[in-house]
Amino acid sequence: MSAGMAEDTCLQCEQSRAEVKENETFCGIEDGYEHRELVAEWPRHHWRDWSDRELDQAGIKPEARKKHRRTSISSLPYVACDDRIRGHNRLAKASPEFDIKAGQCWDCGDADPLTAALNDPEGHALVQAIHDRKAEG
Ligand SMILES: [Zn+2]
Ligand SMILES: [Zn+2]
Repeated sequence: MSAGMAEDTCLQCEQSRAEVKENETFCGIEDGYEHRELVAEWPRHHWRDWSDRELDQAGIKPEARKKHRRTSISSLPYVACDDRIRGHNRLAKASPEFDIKAGQCWDCGDADPLTAALNDPEGHALVQAIHDRKAEG
């Protein structure tokens, strides 16, 4: 699980207060190899914990807020599916080129046997049979 940023570290640019002071850096994220490029920039550093509202906007479930108070902004989109409001990102159809089966989560690979069975012609019949049997009695 994500360790979370230290108390004196900015949740956006991941620099400590000391680093910011020493290098007089602003709040932003650079990326790239030969050419460093600014990919994100904020008007202010974010030292305090995320608020409920901010975590809401990031798609974090209320039950998982405590865990992600200090998860950096670049890690928030990649938190475990169980911590997200939308849950798993299951594919309706199989994607053989990425080796993902129908019903499997694109993000964490979690397989959903029911969806997989429903998307498989033979499995579908099996699930239907079980369903019918339950309905009968
Ligand atoms: Zn910052
Ligand atoms: Zn998942």
